[in-house]
Amino acid sequence: MQQGESSMVQPLTPLYLTCVDCNEEFVFPVSAQEYFIEQGYQHHPKRCKSCHNTHKRGDGNGSSH
Ligand SMILES: [Zn+2]
Repeated sequence: MQQGESSMVQPLTPLYLTCVDCNEEFVFPVSAQEYFIEQGYQHHPKRCKSCHNTHKRGDGNGSSH
């Protein structure tokens, strides 16, 4: 039983983006997209996870988890 064809919501699909730091292709998974939408972000991430973590760490030897 299907109904509401006119109000079909496009399902999110994983996006494949290119990291600006290492030029590696990385996946922007649906769960992360949903998080971005929740946060109101209107842009896609520019960095892969590892580069993002590297950036976040920056200098200093933080012991945060
Ligand atoms: Zn990267």
